[in-house]
Amino acid sequence: MTREYLKKATLTAKSDASETHKIVTDILADIEAGGDAKALEYTAKFDRYDGNVLLTQEEIDAAIATVPEKLKSDIRFAHDNVKRFAELQKSTVADVEMEIAPGFVAGQKSIPVDAAGCYVPGGRYSHIASAIMTVTTAKVAGCKHITACSPPRPGVGVAPAIIYAAHICGADKILAMGGVQGVAAMTFGLFGLPKANILVGPGNQFVAEAKRILFGRVGIDMIAGPTDSLVLADKNADPHIVATDLVSQAEHGYNSPVWLVTDDRALAQKVMSLVPDMIADLPELNRENAFAAWRDYAEVIVCADRADMAACSDEYAPEHLTVQADDLDWWLANLTCYGSLFLGEETTVSYGDKATGTNHVLPTSGAASYTGGLSVHKYMKIVTWQRATRDGSKAVAEATARISRLEGMEGHARAADVRLAKYFPDETFD
Ligand code: NAD
Repeated sequence: MTREYLKKATLTAKSDASETHKIVTDILADIEAGGDAKALEYTAKFDRYDGNVLLTQEEIDAAIATVPEKLKSDIRFAHDNVKRFAELQKSTVADVEMEIAPGFVAGQKSIPVDAAGCYVPGGRYSHIASAIMTVTTAKVAGCKHITACSPPRPGVGVAPAIIYAAHICGADKILAMGGVQGVAAMTFGLFGLPKANILVGPGNQFVAEAKRILFGRVGIDMIAGPTDSLVLADKNADPHIVATDLVSQAEHGYNSPVWLVTDDRALAQKVMSLVPDMIADLPELNRENAFAAWRDYAEVIVCADRADMAACSDEYAPEHLTVQADDLDWWLANLTCYGSLFLGEETTVSYGDKATGTNHVLPTSGAASYTGGLSVHKYMKIVTWQRATRDGSKAVAEATARISRLEGMEGHARAADVRLAKYFPDETFD
C-alpha cells in the first residue's frame, strides 16, 4: 500500500550505546566495590548533593509541609485512580488449581516479590507522576519493602512533591539518589536498604543501561528508551488538538519521536503548519526539547485508508497511541500494538501520564509489539505447585521412569522407581 511521508525522521531514537555501556559498567563496579561511600561520591559528582540520602521521617514530614494543599489534593486524586486501577488488575490474577488426573492436582498461584526498587526520574523534570505510578502499583501488588529513589536537586535534595507522592503511595524508604548510583544502591542493598528483587521505573539512558546490565541478578520491568507517541487522525479530527497533542509529547526530550498517521492530506498539512508556532510558545527548556524532537524525529504519514493507518500504527508499535477518528470501537478492535491507547478527542496522553489510573510506565522503541507496560503483574511471580495421592502418582511415575530412561536420565527414573516400589510393593513395572 502506498504511503506518503510529508515529513520523515532524519535520526532514530538511539544514543551512543557503547559509550553509555562503558560508563555505566564502570560506575556499577566501582559502587559494588566501594559501597555507600562510593555511591555518595557519585551523588556529589553528578547531582552536586552532599546531604543525607536516606530520608528520615523528620525530613519527610518537613518536605511534605512545604507542598501546597491543592497539589497534595491533586496527587491524592491521581493516587486514588492509579490504586483502584491496579486493584482491578490484581483481581484478574486468580489462584487456580485442577485435578490433572485422578488423585493428582496441579495449581498456580501468584506471589508478590518481596522488595521493589522504584526509580523516579528527576533530572530534567520533577516526575511526580512516576512516583505515583511505580510505588502505588508495587503496594497494591503486595510488595513488603518498597524503596522510592529519585535524584536530589543540587544542594537541596529531592523535590518535596515527589517525597509527598512516594510517601502517600506507600514507599517504606525514600532515597535521594539518582542515575546509576540510585539503581546500584537499591540492587546492592546499600544504606541498609533491602536488596531489591525488582527494579521498576523510567529514567534516562544511564538508568536504562544500569537496569539492562543488572537484569538477571535483579528483575526489571522493562528497558525504557525515549518516550514516543503516535496520533491516528481522520478528516473529522480537530487539527488544533492534534497539533497540541503532538507537541505535548515532543517536549519529553530532544529524541522523543511523535508520529501523525492520517488518511487526510489536508489535515496533515494543517497540523504541520500549526506545530512550529505551538513549540515556539513553550517555556525555554520544553521548547528546546520539542523543537529538536519535531525537527529530527517526527514523521507525518498519509495512508490510503483506515485499514492501512491501523497497519502503519502497528508497525511503529508506539508507547502512546491516540485515535482522533470516527468509529472508536473499530480502532479498539483492530489496533494490536501499543503501550496505552487513548480513544477519542475527549482523552489525551497527558491524562494517562498523570492521573487517569492507567500506568504511564510503558514500552518504548517498538517494544509494544511484544509487551505491555507496568502493572501489578510485573511485581508478581506466577508460580506453580503440585500434590498427589499415592494412587494418583502411579501413572505419572510409570511415564516419568520410561521417558527418563529414553532420555538417558537414570537418576530421574530412579526418583520414580523408588516411589513405585514403596507404594506398590506387590506390583512390577517396566
Ligand atoms: P533521570 O532521573 O533519569 O537521570 C538523572 C541522573 O542521570 C542523575 O542523577 C545522574 O546521576 C545521571 N547522569 C546524568 N549525566 C550523567 C553522566 N554523564 N554520566 C553518568 N550519569 C549521569 O532524569 P532525566 O535525565 O531527566 O531523564 C528522565 C527520563 O525519564 C527521560 O528520558 C524521560 O523521557 C523518561 N521518562 C519516561 C517516562 C515513561 O513512562 N516512559 C515517564 C517519565 C520520564
